Amino acid sequence: MTKRSYNFNAGPAALPLEVLEKAQSEFVDFRESGMSIMEMSHRGAIYESVHNEAQERLLSLLGNPSGYKVLFLQGGASTQFAMIPMNFLGEGQQANYVKTGSWANKAIKEAQLIGKTHVAASSESDKYMKLPELSSLQLSEQPAYLHVTSNETIEGTQFKEFPDTGSIPLICDMSSDILSRPFDLSQFAMVYAGAQKNLGPSGVTVVLAREDMISSSPKHLPTMLRYDTHVGNNSLYNTPPSFGIYMINEVLKWIEARGGLEGVQELNRKKAELIYNEIDNSEGFYQGCVDPASRSHMNVTFRLGSEELEKAFAKASEQEGFIGLKGHRSVGGLRASIYNAVPYESCEALVNFMKQFQEQHA
Ligand code: PMP
Repeated sequence: MTKRSYNFNAGPAALPLEVLEKAQSEFVDFRESGMSIMEMSHRGAIYESVHNEAQERLLSLLGNPSGYKVLFLQGGASTQFAMIPMNFLGEGQQANYVKTGSWANKAIKEAQLIGKTHVAASSESDKYMKLPELSSLQLSEQPAYLHVTSNETIEGTQFKEFPDTGSIPLICDMSSDILSRPFDLSQFAMVYAGAQKNLGPSGVTVVLAREDMISSSPKHLPTMLRYDTHVGNNSLYNTPPSFGIYMINEVLKWIEARGGLEGVQELNRKKAELIYNEIDNSEGFYQGCVDPASRSHMNVTFRLGSEELEKAFAKASEQEGFIGLKGHRSVGGLRASIYNAVPYESCEALVNFMKQFQEQHA
């Protein structure tokens, strides 16, 4: 029997076993072509049908809002941090950001290289452990857009709602919670995510954007860094990461089979509740890092009484087959990343381990 770890990696992260097995079964001879999908032309009919199917499935899971396009790009979400201001921040305008933690800060830093930025809300004074109120945003004059990070992967916060910004384009980095719950795409001018947490393997960045936003980029931009290049060529201007896009299509089928976004949301809620309850009922042995109302259903961050105890927890958990529970090196502590593909059973096993560890160390 295949041995599968209790994988709580933050990304690349667990993929659905069913998807891995399906990929394995069609790995060397894809759709009777006599080759794998990685070996065929991206201009051929077989590959193009997979590419288009993945785009259609994504939009269909989001209720097919009109006027939106799906792009498959490379360079990770990190490249989007730069492409967004390059494409959307005009002369005399300011790029507005909600400053919620490590990833929002990286996005802001890139935008500062391109033009003027403004922080419209921040949770820095709460050490990013409590999300700012989005109802009291302080936008700049001439805002080009407002950028939010739906889920801060390192700190473990997640917005439950998004602001209505009217005519100001709302752009969202959903790298660590895309398709983990339903959301209204029509509220956003653009949403983007690296695939390697909830969507598939690393190497593909998914962009969902209103077509009018991305159909005309500033003339001076290099070809690959312009959204209009990619929308005009259906993300086939250059060679796409074809295997990753095929995997995304399979993950999307897997989500459909679980009742779509409502279905996975319910499962994710149960997984998160199980672990947070264990933390909250531990009489302070485990401490959640984040204010309860801001807690993420994707990245559960917690601490123990001392760094020594945290090290012992990380080590003992690894010996029991739990992978990836160490917090990000920049913040320390512990973190369980429980994206869509992490089974409920892995979370149950983690909670049992937590009980056992507490008994031995309390
Ligand atoms: N934004 C968020 C919220 C992330 O979690 C990450 C990656 N962990 C990134 C952006 C950067 O993504 P990439 O590594 O694909 O550039």
